[in-house]
Amino acid sequence: MHLSRFPRLHFAHLPTPLESLPRLSEALGGPHLWIKRDDCTGLSTGGNKTRKLEFLMADAFARDADTIITRGATQSNHVRQTCAIAAKTGMNCHVLLEDRAISDHPAYTQSGNVLLDQLHGATISKRPGGSDMDAEMAQLADQLASEGSRPYVIPVGGSNEVGALGYVNAALELTYQANERSLRLDHLVHATSSSGTQAGLVLGLQALNSGIPVYGISVDHPREIMQENVYELARRTAEYMDLDPDLLARDRIVANSDYIGEGYGIPTDSMIEAVKLMARYEGILLDPVYSGKAFAGLIDLIRKGHFREGENVVFLHTGGSSSLFAYAQIFDLPDHG
Ligand SMILES: *Cc1c(COP(=O)(O)O)cnc(C)c1O
Repeated sequence: MHLSRFPRLHFAHLPTPLESLPRLSEALGGPHLWIKRDDCTGLSTGGNKTRKLEFLMADAFARDADTIITRGATQSNHVRQTCAIAAKTGMNCHVLLEDRAISDHPAYTQSGNVLLDQLHGATISKRPGGSDMDAEMAQLADQLASEGSRPYVIPVGGSNEVGALGYVNAALELTYQANERSLRLDHLVHATSSSGTQAGLVLGLQALNSGIPVYGISVDHPREIMQENVYELARRTAEYMDLDPDLLARDRIVANSDYIGEGYGIPTDSMIEAVKLMARYEGILLDPVYSGKAFAGLIDLIRKGHFREGENVVFLHTGGSSSLFAYAQIFDLPDHG
């Protein structure tokens, strides 16, 4: 696998640390827990979209774009990281935020990621929940092109075969880190949604013959749809890389959708517990929408005895802590004012 064949800008802080979680492992009484700190990739508090954007932004420049268009939910981390890299590279940036009616609290509509999008100088427009957001992006691209701009559309979550290369690269990085310390990794667990992270990881780990199984915890789509989306994108990415798409067995793509609760972005009690445990035992901030729900799933799997004693389980921290401020009120913390 030679990723240098693909255009890439280097701005992510890599490699991200692979750290142990000794206090939390002991408190939960299960396997040895490790954390891969992709919350530390850089770009306006970091997160998993930074790795994808290294390849996507290089592709945008290769196609001579001067304007980036992307979309997400109101508190999208992907949008925030895209706004940051557009600012850094001098691209214009237009973002469409879908109001999925998660909360009308001013913290949700104005703070967290929305505050950061605005600080980075992006042009923000809102769309009602349920809009055809891809059609909205296409229409905006046509309009900007007719006004003389050269727009480049980044899909939701940066998840296409270009963005997924960022997580093929993460698979290389993680395998190398584990090899360096003779650490046998038995499971890799992470939050999954628009599929680019999981598709890149399963493809990269399979191509390396690493034997590390990936377990995606869906924060959005039901299991069957999630697995199908990941499989389809992993195959497309394999073709893009000139790898044999049949390299990937269908049953290697595993997603669990038991921890979504009422829906995307809607808090659950187990997420709140997970965020508090990670903060109090390890001093690390998870987020309410993705990593908090995924870690809640991992805690539940540990409690149910899903892992064997002595196994090493890596949680990929995909970032998102800036949305904690948008959700501050749900944590029910005492007021010391
Ligand atoms: C986007 C995101 C994910 C999900 O990654 P996908 O590649 O969209 O599946 C997980 N965690 C955080 C914090 C995210 O922002």
